[in-house]
Amino acid sequence: AKKGGGNRVERYCPEMNAEMMHRLEMDGYLRKAIEENELFLCYQPIVDVHTGAVIATEALVRWRNPKLGLVRPDEFIPLAEETGLIHEIGRWVLQTACRQTKQWQRETGNDKLAIFVNVSAVQFQHERFVDDVKQALKQSNLLPSCLRLELTEHSMLRHLSSTMRTLDELKRLGVGIAVDDFGSGYSSFHYLKQLPATILKIDRAFIERLHTNASDAAIVKAIITMGRGLGLETIAEGVEALEQLERLRDLQCSYAQGYALCPPLVAEEIAAYMTGRQMN
Ligand code: C2E
Ligand code: CA
Ligand code: CA
Ligand code: CA
Repeated sequence: AKKGGGNRVERYCPEMNAEMMHRLEMDGYLRKAIEENELFLCYQPIVDVHTGAVIATEALVRWRNPKLGLVRPDEFIPLAEETGLIHEIGRWVLQTACRQTKQWQRETGNDKLAIFVNVSAVQFQHERFVDDVKQALKQSNLLPSCLRLELTEHSMLRHLSSTMRTLDELKRLGVGIAVDDFGSGYSSFHYLKQLPATILKIDRAFIERLHTNASDAAIVKAIITMGRGLGLETIAEGVEALEQLERLRDLQCSYAQGYALCPPLVAEEIAAYMTGRQMN
């Protein structure tokens, strides 16, 4: 009995290794994280490479626990996927991000400002997922066209036929679909052609040496060209240097995000960042 309550009995088994103890401890705390208000979102601006305008932000979840400190999503999201808590967490992320974006739209007068929300494969497979999306939109009054869901290529290709049905349903709703970390997984052009995606997010591994390595530059160029041919928008992730931004402009990439533009910030800081930009 790996899941469920069965493992509680083993809690004091001396043979249990430290790693497992740590996970059990984390799981216990994570179960209370939402009600204890320990989860919060950071937002990273996604910027038009040519005009510098903020067209959207990506919501990135954070967890601060009094005992564990700040836990990275790379650490607790996989655990939440294993235990099923991801559904509750994902629902909270969707609702919070949509509500926040609607508020920014009101404050800035930019009713096109979009929000990118990461969705894990497990979350996406849940039968209630589309209803969760609809509910978040309804509660926040955000237009479906302002919501973009990020899925990795790997998670889209898992259970391809059920994934396709869900993606089609979301597309009919008017929600955007972005392929996250594009190029890092099992890129197959055959599947890419079939996926109802609207956006490609180029994995930061290719952006890292874009300005210093000819092969990486050729790959980024090819992805952008292919994206345009397929009618997809392209976003470069992990832009850390201004030289990379210049190269992206030359290559006609539409959008970029990364530390060189702006790190992930809490909501209040984003509001200040956006108004500061508008006044420039
Ligand atoms: P991701 O979706 O690929 O998110 C991008 C990660 O790169 C973020 O890490 C972000 O803080 C970081 N980053 C942004 N700009 C730069 C840069 O210029 N250079 C470098 N080196 N890194 C940059 P973070 O916030 O720790 O998130 C890690 C991963 O956790 C995300 O990768 C995503 O897969 C997952 N994640 C985050 N929030 C959520 C969520 O709400 N739901 C789900 N299911 N997964 C999430
Ligand atoms: Ca992402
Ligand atoms: Ca990514
Ligand atoms: Ca990732």
